[in-house]
Amino acid sequence: MAKKEFKAESKRLLDLMVNSIYTHKEIFLRELISNASDAVDKLYFKSLTENIGKNRNDFYINISPDKQNRTLTISDNGIGMTKEDLENNLGIIANSGSFNFKSENKSDDINIIGQFGVGFYSAFMIAKEVIVKSKAYGEEQAYEWKSEGSDGYTIEECSKDSNGTEITLVFKEDTEDEKYSDYLEGWRLQNLIRKYSDYIRYPIQLPVTENVPIEKAEHVHEDGTPCDHDHGEDNAPQYEEVTTIKTINSMVPLWKKNKNELTDEEYNQFYKDKFNEYTDPLVRTHVKNEGTVTYDALLFIPSKAPFNYYSKDYEKGLQLYSNGVMIMQKCKDLLPDYFAFVKGLVDSEDFSLNISREILQHDHQLKLIAKNIEKTIKNELVKLLKNDREKYEGFFKEFGTPVKYGIYESFGANADNLKDLLIFYSSSEKKLVTLAEYKERMKPEQEFIYYAVGKTTEGIDISPKTEAVKAKGYELLYFTEDVDEFAIKMLREYDGKQFKSVSSGDLKLETEEEKKAAEEKSKEYQPLFDEMQKHLAGKVSAVRLSTRLKDHPVCLSSEGEVSVEMQEILKQMPGSDVAKSMQSAPILEINGDHPIFAKLQNFFENDKETLGDYADILLGQAKLAEGFALENPAEFADKITKLLS
Ligand code: ADP
Repeated sequence: MAKKEFKAESKRLLDLMVNSIYTHKEIFLRELISNASDAVDKLYFKSLTENIGKNRNDFYINISPDKQNRTLTISDNGIGMTKEDLENNLGIIANSGSFNFKSENKSDDINIIGQFGVGFYSAFMIAKEVIVKSKAYGEEQAYEWKSEGSDGYTIEECSKDSNGTEITLVFKEDTEDEKYSDYLEGWRLQNLIRKYSDYIRYPIQLPVTENVPIEKAEHVHEDGTPCDHDHGEDNAPQYEEVTTIKTINSMVPLWKKNKNELTDEEYNQFYKDKFNEYTDPLVRTHVKNEGTVTYDALLFIPSKAPFNYYSKDYEKGLQLYSNGVMIMQKCKDLLPDYFAFVKGLVDSEDFSLNISREILQHDHQLKLIAKNIEKTIKNELVKLLKNDREKYEGFFKEFGTPVKYGIYESFGANADNLKDLLIFYSSSEKKLVTLAEYKERMKPEQEFIYYAVGKTTEGIDISPKTEAVKAKGYELLYFTEDVDEFAIKMLREYDGKQFKSVSSGDLKLETEEEKKAAEEKSKEYQPLFDEMQKHLAGKVSAVRLSTRLKDHPVCLSSEGEVSVEMQEILKQMPGSDVAKSMQSAPILEINGDHPIFAKLQNFFENDKETLGDYADILLGQAKLAEGFALENPAEFADKITKLLS
């Protein structure tokens, strides 16, 4: 029988499959089962609409491995294919748009296989020959389609008792790298079916061989009474291998069930199985959405960040299903980066099995779903914040940082979405508070939301710079993460109130008169400050009389947008031009009421050299109090020693 040629595009795809170096060849089974399921769907639909006397229970998909002959047969009793169908459906690649043939790049090809599978032809990744016997429903004659790969196929008449399709894969020889015969092992097949096709709505049957104990006939005496003495035979239980056909898949997806049918236990177990987690999720939500987009979604917030969460190995994404069939393991377009920790899945009938990633990315439906999902996650978090503060704090400890980065990286575009999820340590409440709660407690005359930056809350608590704000009775937020102040800068304001760092030049705490008085006093000592600044040239931009200090002698502050703390962080970012351009030396503030101030005045009059040493030491102290590193600790120590001796 003459071989027919494949159409050019099919040939190219087939070549790709035959020579595939793709590592997840296992998806071939998912593809063939999914085709079988579609074929059964079609006949079931016909039976529903045309009353042909078939029940849902009549349908099955059968998988039978034959180790001796190295074949695997997948059969279904679905709609089947006519001769023309075989010609058209298997001779020409399905018109699914999943394959961009312009690509000459091998890794792109691999991506395509990995993301979507490529239907029937994926069989050629593991088979050297594929034989398809099919009998269309209502037809007398069955046909056999046969191909050994890209050089063509044959179609002949054959005999087959009932309608449906039977696909036999003749396996390639095993090589050192590829053990194709693994796919003939019962356990491997069971695993694959459960992994990829658990929720196919028809039974997927597989012969399963088990060791079962052999039941021994009981000894009886001639009078019929049971005999209990030893006859010398081996009493150890004996086993025999029994093979039965079993249904492997559970058939109903958990997310398709009614919420009130499901227990916490079932959800948690599902979560752990599906996403390889060891602990129960912190939050779970089961969404059944009907409207402009119809989908079911199961979303989980883990209770712990995965070990690689903060590395670039971590891949975000939700599993994407098309009506119970998994089409993508990690659809990253469904989650914004700041919610990358969410695990779960989305099932929508609106996606075809072979939709390509490129098309998907621009898919309007997917965008709508992603938007909804984002809203759902946010609402769940707000609910948790309201109803279970302790749990929420647990969440924020694990995943607060990405949320803050979400505000920072978008230049504040996501601020509205995320600002109410933020919590910071409060100086007055001694616990984590929201911005809304802070605002509630603000004093009537208080203009700003004040914050202080430091390494630890304990450190900030005793920092000199917080004295003036605290003395006013204002609450302070403590920022202990590098990203905190950057995120807040992007936020700009909360509910009409701007943020102010306790280290900013003008704290706006004094009245106009107080300010004037301070300026007068400052002028008086200007020559002293000028002398100190001359000595500290390049290290500070100014020396000034402080209005914020109460007990401490000195502190650092900055003018403008970039705080002293931000500058420290920027300094540590290697080679960033932006960082360099944003840097300016801090201001050294001196407490005019501190005993040391009189000493400084004295040195200014009588001993300029010692004034210089004092200036160095005071600057060093101010830095240490902030938790910053000294540029030259040895020199600092020497100066202190000189002073002490
Ligand atoms: P797709 O499933 O995306 O259409 P495939 O390459 O997997 O692409 O299959 C091509 C076509 O072959 C299917 O659309 C279907 O019409 C037909 N087909 C494949 N397997 C079967 C089957 N088991 N029973 C009936 N028809 C099938």
